[in-house]
Amino acid sequence: MSCSVFNFLKKSIPASHVFAVFSGLMTGTAFGLFIPLMVLSNSEKVVSYEEVAAVSMVEDALRLAGRSNSEEEGISYITLPGVQKYDGPRLAQSMPIETKETWLSWMGKNRGDDPAFLEQRWTWAQNLVKTSELKHPADVRAFLLTPREYFVRAQNKGLEYADTWLPIGYGATITDPDVVSMMTTTLNVNPGDKVLEIGTGSGYQSAILSYLTKDVYTIEIIKPLFFETDALYHNLEKTFPSFSAINRKLGDGYYGWGEFAPFDKIIVTCSIDHIPPPLLRQLKAGGIMVLPLGPPNRQYIMEIVKNEAADGSIILSRRDVYNGQSVRFIPFRDEIGASYSTPVIEKSE
Ligand code: SAH
Repeated sequence: MSCSVFNFLKKSIPASHVFAVFSGLMTGTAFGLFIPLMVLSNSEKVVSYEEVAAVSMVEDALRLAGRSNSEEEGISYITLPGVQKYDGPRLAQSMPIETKETWLSWMGKNRGDDPAFLEQRWTWAQNLVKTSELKHPADVRAFLLTPREYFVRAQNKGLEYADTWLPIGYGATITDPDVVSMMTTTLNVNPGDKVLEIGTGSGYQSAILSYLTKDVYTIEIIKPLFFETDALYHNLEKTFPSFSAINRKLGDGYYGWGEFAPFDKIIVTCSIDHIPPPLLRQLKAGGIMVLPLGPPNRQYIMEIVKNEAADGSIILSRRDVYNGQSVRFIPFRDEIGASYSTPVIEKSE
């Protein structure tokens, strides 16, 4: 054993480094101590190709197991509301939506929304029903209850109900209302479903989900954006208590949220060219995942339904919900900002 360690040291620390360490120690000065420390720290990086391969295999194994080194180091997540969850879906069910007048009067009595936006929200929901981007009555109610005006950032005042995506800083965007509607409708959330969102961003999508089920989990990778939206939910929760029930985590959503898996539904709001295996693993059998799938400049909103065959194998069915019409989302990235999609190599002429 000690012999193999000695051989390893002999192989990995070149003679010149050993000499530098030795002469450094011999001088006994502060400068002399500094040199060997530097040399030693460099020598740690001298590894064989086999060792490099072994390290990356460990990383791959962690990835396949749905864990990352950063998770091992304990990337912080905060704000877990625990068991005392506010019942957003119950409130949504009790809201009358037969006519605009009854809805407006109920909102006036029961909620603290800014009345200036209510008419726009109503008209917008009616249009989304006409285009079938909002299908289920529960989704219509969730949309009518969610104040988009607080999630669109201050630099876009006046565009709160515009039918477009908007920048929210940090290179991120709040998704267009029609795409949010289409993805929510496709997700088909039932009260009691455990839903995971990847890409909290502005916080709007999870706010909608909080009126569809009490069990919402969301992950954001950009630290300042995560804290901004976390503070926004905190500030709004007095007026809109269902936001206090949203579990939020700062981290890399590629690996999902193993601690709370499996999920009935998973919604991914950043673009990727493959289905992240850890997310697929964390989806229940019979569960639905909705994600923008495709190359960096063009994606298709896909509905993936996961089923398990009797022999335990997994069967996936896929549907392009916009039937060939593409969308464009912010890239799904890792902690250093690199995209998870395979880069497109430009063809030279
Ligand atoms: N659902 C958001 C969409 C925001 S845009 C909304 O309606 O506002 C997409 C978001 O995905 C960005 O905030 C981006 O930072 C985030 N994102 C990208 N890669 C991620 C990753 N690996 N894990 C978690 N979030 C990620």
